[in-house]
Amino acid sequence: MKLGEAFGIEVDVLQSEWGKRVNVEDVENKLSEKSYKAVTITHGDTSTGVVADLDALVPVIKKHGALVILDGVVATAAIEEDMSKCFGHPDYKIDIVLTGSQKAIGVPPGLAVVAFNQSALEVRKQLGRIPAYYTDINNWIPIMNDPSKYFATPPVNLIYAYAEGMRLVLEEGLENRYIRHSAYGKAVRASLAEYGMKALADEGVAASTLSCILYPEGVDDAAFRGALAEKGVILAGSLAHLAGKAFRIGHMGNTTEQMLEKAIELIGQTLNEMGHKANTERAVELFKEAMYANV
Ligand SMILES: *Cc1c(COP(=O)(O)O)cnc(C)c1O
Repeated sequence: MKLGEAFGIEVDVLQSEWGKRVNVEDVENKLSEKSYKAVTITHGDTSTGVVADLDALVPVIKKHGALVILDGVVATAAIEEDMSKCFGHPDYKIDIVLTGSQKAIGVPPGLAVVAFNQSALEVRKQLGRIPAYYTDINNWIPIMNDPSKYFATPPVNLIYAYAEGMRLVLEEGLENRYIRHSAYGKAVRASLAEYGMKALADEGVAASTLSCILYPEGVDDAAFRGALAEKGVILAGSLAHLAGKAFRIGHMGNTTEQMLEKAIELIGQTLNEMGHKANTERAVELFKEAMYANV
């Protein structure tokens, strides 16, 4: 919203309750009220661990003639976002995907990755002059056609890292990656539930790449995450009204099953050290069961 306003774009925000999806009927109603040029969707919501339902949202947005702009940051390369997929009509497609190198692609931060389809490029052309230069897709098309025309100093080390990240993604195969992440999400949440740690999002809407987990009664957030960090497991705090009440655990990119299993074990160990009762063995068992159930 702040970004849009900075560029003089009128923005309306449809926010769901934390941990829930945005209601598709609310989107439909908004789009019927007035004309919108574009709708942005956060594919995986980093604050809550909720995944958007593209199959429901894309057709509604496209029916009203708006562009679908997808923030794929915590999803791209782990959750399907196929730009060639038709959502119930040959013209109903995801128009733009924006992502970063540092999350599910597993490459150091610093690269913004963008993809436009033909309709989105057409809309850009019709806009004429826009208040952007480096972020104007029009300036990048000649460079994509001939990289030697790059008009600034490219971050070559990051581009090499990205190429290697992409090589790993393609070697594993997108489909396998989607399945692996889905199993990770289920296994992490099932095992943490054994510790009385409940995911904010219901399983049916939970993202496979990251989970927001509510603390059981009496666990001190800073002490818990601090002790775990000393053991080598970094969990993120939660934001806004969930700060101190929940933590966020990433299970994306080139994370391995062994790393996650170890993290589950260390979380249990830490809880026990802090005087809470945690059945570490059972949690690890549940982790493996859920991993296995998904194969
Ligand atoms: C991390 C994240 C961002 C922000 O990415 P930066 O590169 O840190 O600006 C945006 N959207 C989502 C969904 C994210 O998970």
